[in-house]
Amino acid sequence: MQQDQTEIRHDWSEQEVRALFELPFNDLLFKAQLVHRQYFNPNEVQVSTLLSIKTGACPEDCKYCPQSGHYNTGLEKERLMQVDAVLEKAKQAKESGSTRFCMGAAWKHPADKDMPYVIEMVKGVKALGLETCMTLGMLDEGKAEQLADAGLDYYNHNLDTSPEFYGNIITTRTYQDRLDTLHHVRESGMKICSGGILGMGETATDRIGLLRQLANLPKQPESVPINMLVKVKGTPLENAETLDNLDFIRTIAVARIMMPQSHVRLSAGRENMSDEMQAMTFMAGANSIFYGECLLTTPNPETHRDLQLFKRLGINPEQRISEADDTQEQVIINNLQKQQDKSFFYEA
Ligand code: SF4
Repeated sequence: MQQDQTEIRHDWSEQEVRALFELPFNDLLFKAQLVHRQYFNPNEVQVSTLLSIKTGACPEDCKYCPQSGHYNTGLEKERLMQVDAVLEKAKQAKESGSTRFCMGAAWKHPADKDMPYVIEMVKGVKALGLETCMTLGMLDEGKAEQLADAGLDYYNHNLDTSPEFYGNIITTRTYQDRLDTLHHVRESGMKICSGGILGMGETATDRIGLLRQLANLPKQPESVPINMLVKVKGTPLENAETLDNLDFIRTIAVARIMMPQSHVRLSAGRENMSDEMQAMTFMAGANSIFYGECLLTTPNPETHRDLQLFKRLGINPEQRISEADDTQEQVIINNLQKQQDKSFFYEA
């Protein structure tokens, strides 16, 4: 890391954030790049795999979500997966180059009876040498501690949008419930993954409000997923107005400037982005992606397309700092090599 790093601030005002959004596009991207390069290698992107360990029939009513039991999206519901099956998927993720394995369950909160299985999953995935992340809904203090004791590295719980717009999207839990869960996660010693979704009909002021909430937390989240709404038929947001791609890129750039040390992740919605759009988000400071065939229940660009894009952009997958793993690096290099060999025969 270089000297004179941008200060980490927790007192961003609406006016200051608006001023960033209103910068000329090139100036904003340049500023984001300058900040990005103080804390990260600009040619590295962290790669995570996400697995849905329990799918559908969720009691919450998040209007964007095909897993909500309130909407009929034709999604096939699945019970909590067996621990062995989860570990098998984690092995495959490691073999295809991921360093972090995220497990998601469509619950309001984990039930006591499910905790022993979830804990076994955390321990098993960690034993494979992967970082672990879970998203299981709300957590109280006790469950956060149980997960932290099992060795869970990250807990994902998104704020989704601004406090003002939140009630238009979810009515079954409050914004404060979400902040409370983040507080319990932080207190337990786990790292936080928290971000939001763009393109749900929110205003520019709501996007400012979301980023202020995240950046002004007592400690900024280590990972900040920024999702583009995937409009799923059967959900109330299936006909939401499409967000301008440039507004999406601007939001990534502003997130990078406000949260210089966080990994800003391109999450849901990436499958609808062109390679050029993804490249521009990396330029704006995104430095993490989900990789693999499935992003919970919406399609994710296939792994080989990611590898090809990385190669075309000269981007390398970021390695774990806590546990340097040469084998992991070799796996990715081999995959890239295989891709290069096959590229003549590849039909896009
Ligand atoms: S986003 Fe999560 S909490 Fe909301 S309905 Fe979907 S699975 Fe349930």
